[in-house]
Amino acid sequence: MPVYEYFCRTCGATFELLRPMARSGEPAACPRGHAGATRTLSVFAAAPRGSDAPSGRDADGAGGCACGGSCACGGT
Ligand SMILES: [Zn+2]
Repeated sequence: MPVYEYFCRTCGATFELLRPMARSGEPAACPRGHAGATRTLSVFAAAPRGSDAPSGRDADGAGGCACGGSCACGGT
């Protein structure tokens, strides 16, 4: 069962809850007893796509180093 993170607007608490996926969007009760906590986008599940991904690191596929053979890379 996946873990979802919820945010209580009443007290500002965030908490995690194990829930069936089909019920993930339903309001939850916060640990302090407030009803109506809403699910937040988990930082684990909702990492922004593409924005921080390293680009071009393996673009040439050669793993080439520009050292010319003077470093520990082997001179490729
Ligand atoms: Zn609360």
